[in-house]
Amino acid sequence: MNILVLNCGSSSLKFQIIDTDLDLIEKDADHQRAKGIIERIGSQSLVTLQASGKPAQKHAAPLRDHKSALDYVVRWIVSADAQIPGIRSLGDIHAVGHRVVHGAEKFTKSMIITDEVIDGIEDCIDLAPLHNPANLKGIYAARELFGLGVPQVAVFDTSFHSTMPDTSYLYAIPYQLYRRHKLRRYGFHGTSHRYVTYRYRQITGIPREKVHIITLHLGNGCSACAIRDGNSFDTSMGLSPLEGLVMGTRGGDLDPAIIEFLSHKEGMSIPEIDALLNKQSGLLGLSGLTNDMRELLEEEREHNDRRASLAVSIFVQRVKKYLGAYLAEMNGADAIVFTGGIGENSPTIRNRICSDLGWFGITIDETANASLKQGTEGAIHAGDSKVQLYVIPTNEELLIARDTVRCVKDAPRRW
Ligand code: AMP
Repeated sequence: MNILVLNCGSSSLKFQIIDTDLDLIEKDADHQRAKGIIERIGSQSLVTLQASGKPAQKHAAPLRDHKSALDYVVRWIVSADAQIPGIRSLGDIHAVGHRVVHGAEKFTKSMIITDEVIDGIEDCIDLAPLHNPANLKGIYAARELFGLGVPQVAVFDTSFHSTMPDTSYLYAIPYQLYRRHKLRRYGFHGTSHRYVTYRYRQITGIPREKVHIITLHLGNGCSACAIRDGNSFDTSMGLSPLEGLVMGTRGGDLDPAIIEFLSHKEGMSIPEIDALLNKQSGLLGLSGLTNDMRELLEEEREHNDRRASLAVSIFVQRVKKYLGAYLAEMNGADAIVFTGGIGENSPTIRNRICSDLGWFGITIDETANASLKQGTEGAIHAGDSKVQLYVIPTNEELLIARDTVRCVKDAPRRW
């Protein structure tokens, strides 16, 4: 089956076409056929389209909304220009899988999209005002373009964390707020944490219920996940993706009194504070330069920039803090897995996170670590390290495509 995987942000649309099916999943023989991204939807959009094994094509086009962006993608997919093997017409797309950020307590697994599921995703908008509306735009656009005959599936970022116990997900605020509004921690990046956990099992041959690991998704957004008995036990993001680690433009954990302080001292409104915490904080806010880790490391190395160095050090220290917390919560872990743009590509950051953790039995093999960059998978622990260390490139799109096939064919999800 050719699955179109869609990931819609407020002004962007990312897609992949993945050829997969139950037998291909079994043999790990699914293929990516094409991928692309449309940025700056709503003005002069930047379009990058690439059929697998061919050079990327870049265009600019005025695309006013997600429907026009998807229309543009679909016209390219079926064009002679794209030449995607096995795809000549719209009928060769057999199903659409959507990344949906917030499923709240309603959606604990991937779902075929029905009117009822759409209502449910709309009900979660209060909890994810930045993300769910964009995801819904992708769903409406795909329904309009493909019609109801092509099944669509929603894969939720939160659902992997639905196994967290109440001791992990409740905030220590009056309990009736949880009852009344479902105000609690949900966690995000679930598809990524789930994918790398699955790969870890494939690499090590450990059965699902014996998996005791900590996964670190370190990209522009960052989160840690404590996985106990194969399930998410705790994770660093909370009600929204703002909580937890230091990220590109989000500061992660902070004292909630800061909000009142900012409103009082800076005369800021709630939306302004929200924008400050989501878009101007983290690595960007600390360094005053950029949210891009690669550039910060370069500034630190080439120009000895104090604020770039401070931003990186605070980023690293926060990850260590969460590692310590999760090792304590789970009475240790068998492995730590690095993923995401930073986790996959930066030996420097991995080395800094793992240094001076000898007391926990964590020792990195610096040579193995330095040799693993540009999205390669492998082990980076020293021979005598009690805790194993892995780099596993994430592949959320593959998991979305596989979940889509399983939902369409009503097959059980095994991981
Ligand atoms: P993502 O959101 O997963 O695409 O990750 C984006 C982040 O990964 C940005 O902060 C990039 O600077 C960072 N990144 C990508 N490649 C490298 C690299 N080679 N070294 C350090 N950071 C990198």
